[in-house]
Amino acid sequence: MGHIVPRAGRSVAFMSPEIRELFDAALAVHGHAYAPYSNFRVGAAIRTDTGRIFAAGNVENAAYPQGACAEAGAVCAMASAGERRIVEVLVVCDGEGLSTCCGGCRQRLREFAAGSVPIHCAGPEGVRATFTLEQLLPESFGPENLVGF
Ligand SMILES: [Zn+2]
Repeated sequence: MGHIVPRAGRSVAFMSPEIRELFDAALAVHGHAYAPYSNFRVGAAIRTDTGRIFAAGNVENAAYPQGACAEAGAVCAMASAGERRIVEVLVVCDGEGLSTCCGGCRQRLREFAAGSVPIHCAGPEGVRATFTLEQLLPESFGPENLVGF
């Protein structure tokens, strides 16, 4: 495979201080996620090039398609604060398995992130795997494709 970089021991003790900061922010909003229908809570935290962190949980809706992913909320908060450049992402999901960002959110992140940006996929106990955005969304379409139009 080569893409997946498991973190030894699946323990928060192995996180760098920078990743731990993102993890704590994501875990805090994971706890406030509104997921009464799926019971699948997600918390996403984004670090920008100015060092600020923006985080959001998923917000479901009785009209299912109106629900919003955690990453979408975090991207909206970031952009609304005037920030434009993502340098690191961490997502905490419920469940035992490895959960990565959905396809739509990969594209949302792509708008503001370079392909080399790390995306840490975590469970409540810690980071389970790290990918680059390019690994999750190869050969992607982005803002540069629209330059000149
Ligand atoms: Zn999503």
